[in-house]
Amino acid sequence: LFNAVEMAPRDPILGLTEQFVADPNPKKVNLGVGVYYDDNGKLPLLECVQKAEEKMMAAHAARGYLPIDGIAAYDAAIKALVFGADSEAVKSGRVATVQALGGTGGLKIGADFLKKLNPTAKVLISDPSWENHRGIFRDAGFTVENYPYYDADKRGIDMDGMLTALNTAPAGTIVVLHACCHNPTGYDLTAAQWDQVVAAVKARKLVAFLDMAYQGFGQGIAEDGIAVAKFLASGEDFLVSTSFSKSLSLYGERVGALSVLCQNKDEATRVLSQLKIVIRTNYSNPPTHGGQVAATILNTPELRALWEKELAAMRVRIKEMRGALVGKLKEKGVQRDFGFITQQVGMFSYSGLTKEQMVRLRNEFGVYGIESGRICVAALNSKNIDYVAESIATVVR
Ligand code: PMP
Repeated sequence: LFNAVEMAPRDPILGLTEQFVADPNPKKVNLGVGVYYDDNGKLPLLECVQKAEEKMMAAHAARGYLPIDGIAAYDAAIKALVFGADSEAVKSGRVATVQALGGTGGLKIGADFLKKLNPTAKVLISDPSWENHRGIFRDAGFTVENYPYYDADKRGIDMDGMLTALNTAPAGTIVVLHACCHNPTGYDLTAAQWDQVVAAVKARKLVAFLDMAYQGFGQGIAEDGIAVAKFLASGEDFLVSTSFSKSLSLYGERVGALSVLCQNKDEATRVLSQLKIVIRTNYSNPPTHGGQVAATILNTPELRALWEKELAAMRVRIKEMRGALVGKLKEKGVQRDFGFITQQVGMFSYSGLTKEQMVRLRNEFGVYGIESGRICVAALNSKNIDYVAESIATVVR
């Protein structure tokens, strides 16, 4: 039966981590990951999470099955977080939200739902994108193509290319958009550029699917919601996946959601019924713990305030590391201007380093990044930054 099964290619990022673990260099630094580490290089367990868990443990709740769409208080909190508690869309009941297994789960539920709705639609993802976008939509049965996004010469966004792709896409094309903190480049659209994208999506009758994996890591919770706010104002239907993996540092709990904005409550009820079928036939219902932690934090004012403080601290630390890296490269006599790193947002930076330079960083210095030049700025800290800057300075000299 399994005789002809071929070996699947290894996940390139996980492969890099394995190589990192095996590297005996005591100075090694892993900038290949998509994880936020604190200044001690440790994965944080947020205080708001600890407090929520203490509350939950004190209640000694039994673990029955959750409803198919998850914890009601969790879904309500997601709607308020993503669309605004006072938004007309939430108040009128025209958002269908389901708890999902991380942001990946939200994307997958959305992809399966859209495939049933419009099986011949094409999917457009950014070039480059989080590679799993391609896999998720391809394995849901779609043809996946790219829209231009990163302009390496300009070190920024190829807005003309992106708009041309959107303006020539057939009606019904699903466009996956990074709502904030673009992975892997770190370049986000400005407010004016979002207006252009929203207008193109509307004019061409495209379907926007916003991937919101880093809300609060860019400029702030509300600021990072700008794309959602603009699509909401456009009056179009759209989808949003949410992830708390980074923002609550709950990677392994698989806490996320999918929200579908509909025209009215009746439509949202019907959409929800279809999302439930997708969930039911995949994993039946979501797990209890992570969703309950998030719901407790979001719905308890003191914990919510604590979360916002802790999230801001992570955001500020990443920004400081961006500034520090640029400063140190200058200090070490690097002529090339790396100032663009401070213009990028979120956990990642397209550093502009070539594949050869990335390979040298890894082999000669134990500094691991992706060969595309992507480094995780959130893995830099006050102890490793000097070594990283020195290593980069050496390979760019
Ligand atoms: N979308 C993007 C752009 C991401 O970077 C990630 C995580 N690396 C995800 C979605 C998936 O998030 P999760 O781990 O919550 O499934």
